[in-house]
Amino acid sequence: MRVLLLGGTSESRAISASPPAGVHLVESWAGRLAGEAGRADRVGGFGGAAGLAAYLVAEGIVAVVDATHPFAARMTGHAAEACALAGVPLLRVNRQGWGHHPLAATWRWVDDHAAAARAAAGGGGRVLLTVGRQPLPFYRGLPDVVARVAEAPAGPLPPGWRLLVARGPFGEADERALLASERVGVLVTKDAGGPSGKLDAAAALGVAVVVVRRAAGPAGLVEVPDAAGALAWLADLAARQG
Ligand code: NAP
Repeated sequence: MRVLLLGGTSESRAISASPPAGVHLVESWAGRLAGEAGRADRVGGFGGAAGLAAYLVAEGIVAVVDATHPFAARMTGHAAEACALAGVPLLRVNRQGWGHHPLAATWRWVDDHAAAARAAAGGGGRVLLTVGRQPLPFYRGLPDVVARVAEAPAGPLPPGWRLLVARGPFGEADERALLASERVGVLVTKDAGGPSGKLDAAAALGVAVVVVRRAAGPAGLVEVPDAAGALAWLADLAARQG
């Protein structure tokens, strides 16, 4: 049984490491992650929802597991549309967000990066951006910024910005040291979910936190929060397919 696994996350790596018996995973990573894709079976986009639907039919794919990042909204939308077109079952692996974090009520929650930039401008002090590389243009008006990214963005940064290229996970002690040494007043992040030392570190140092909410995904998706849930769904599907 051929199953397309849309990857790019720790969850997708865990799923592809131990597929249930009878399941042949075809693991796909986005082109912009080509350098990290490792043993992915294919790399690069499908050409939108229609392209993905055509791929599912041509490759004899019987199910799709979308284990992309919670903020990879375009891929998740295309997967939902393509699976509906091709009549293929879809599972979304959607890790729990930080809305249930004990500190969640102390943060400023905003709907998008434009609102986060406005909130950070009024927050007082140097801003640490941990939103990834792509949304950085929304924050260009901020004068005093440390931007931490996994990969350096193309092109020059605004004056007054400092770039930190580093790949997590980052522990709480290291995050505290960074916030203190950079004299950060405001931390901006997005609701990626999962373990995160920066949130506790910010609370300990009295650093204000701005969190960008996840956009609402397609309605009616079958979801699990983690790789274990996805593996159970796949095992059940394989058993039913005989
Ligand atoms: P996106 O905006 O939702 O997707 C942009 C386009 O990239 C999609 O329309 C699709 O192209 C292609 N694509 C995305 N994931 C793919 C996959 N697994 N296999 C093949 N093509 C894929 O996604 P993004 O925010 O740019 O993120 C790209 C990848 O990075 C995702 O797979 C995600 O898991 C990973 N990632 C994202 C973040 C984040 O914060 N956004 C963080 C960590 C990892 P076509 O329309 O041509 O099919």
